[in-house]
Amino acid sequence: MADTRQVIILGSGAAGLTAAIYAARAELQPLLFEGRQPGGQLTITTEVENYPGFAEAIMGPDLMVRMRAQAERFGTEIITAEVESVNLKVKPFEIMAHGNRYTAHSVIIATGAVAKLLGLPSEAKLMGHGVSACATCDGYFFKNQRVAVVGGGDTAMEEATFLTKFASGVNVVHRRDKLRASKIMQERAMANPKISFTWDSEVEEVLGVKEGKVTGVKLMNLKSGKSSVLDVDGLFIGIGHQPNTKLFQGQLELTAAGYIQTILGTRTSIPGVFAAGDVQDSVYRQAVTAAGSGCMAALDAERYLEELKHPAHALPAAKPDRAGAVDVSETRPVR
Ligand code: NDP
Repeated sequence: MADTRQVIILGSGAAGLTAAIYAARAELQPLLFEGRQPGGQLTITTEVENYPGFAEAIMGPDLMVRMRAQAERFGTEIITAEVESVNLKVKPFEIMAHGNRYTAHSVIIATGAVAKLLGLPSEAKLMGHGVSACATCDGYFFKNQRVAVVGGGDTAMEEATFLTKFASGVNVVHRRDKLRASKIMQERAMANPKISFTWDSEVEEVLGVKEGKVTGVKLMNLKSGKSSVLDVDGLFIGIGHQPNTKLFQGQLELTAAGYIQTILGTRTSIPGVFAAGDVQDSVYRQAVTAAGSGCMAALDAERYLEELKHPAHALPAAKPDRAGAVDVSETRPVR
């Protein structure tokens, strides 16, 4: 077994790599595991136009190559391997990958989330060619075009509402006749003159595989059994996200939706284990917010490690004030 590391980072998306940049610059010699999809979700997007500092836009994969190089420049060791198991109930923490055992005094979890998809072959073939699971990323490419959004939850309502900024019309296709979304999001979508709804319907096939771009969607009405075609130029899948938390089930506290529960920034239910990015964020899910929380996780880990070394100098834990707000002024990292 190799020496126990100060910090091991799981995940190589914007959160994990930003955590690595900060941890490496704090001379914690981080070890980072990049999993099955190095670079995370940004590697499956095209142009990223909303990451600050890139006025001309940057391709998602290029942004991740740059972040990775920046993390390596300061001494991050990167291992390309799927983590098989973690044991967060022992100290130091244990991580198994490729049959090898690694140990660390602190762990930053940045394993991300994946957008749920319908699972149709035509959907997979047209992904990035009119099919998308992220309106914020790709909505801009559908200026004055017609798009459909699948789903009936908050994600679908948010995507549909956002897409009306660009698209000439947005049709929400939902498999039931009642939305799951919160009342306010439903009302907002229903009051929007650009949004229409197709109820009790499922997407059977995305049309346009031969043309190499979406030309429409074939729908099936689940009540009547009848098929119909909706002419659209784009299809957004808004049926939710699945956080990658399987490894941590039974060890860390998770939210009802399966995300890692964090408090006071990036702390999890186990001291010394921090979580950043989409694995703990079901609301914002942006590259910049993931990067921001990766930075926070590295600073939190740095402070935790400092406290391990000098327990007598440990700063008091953050306490809620009388109004319920949390005072974090005492919890800044020791630099
Ligand atoms: P949800 O699980 O709430 O909703 C998923 C929707 O997709 C449901 O309407 C479901 O249908 C439908 N669906 C699921 N699988 C399929 C499928 N295979 N084919 C067709 N339709 C399918 O996920 P969300 O991502 O919408 O929300 C997750 C959480 O995140 C919620 O707590 C939500 O409030 C929160 N959120 C908050 C936001 C905000 O506050 N701004 C924005 C986005 C999310 P059915 O209803 O029939 O099950």
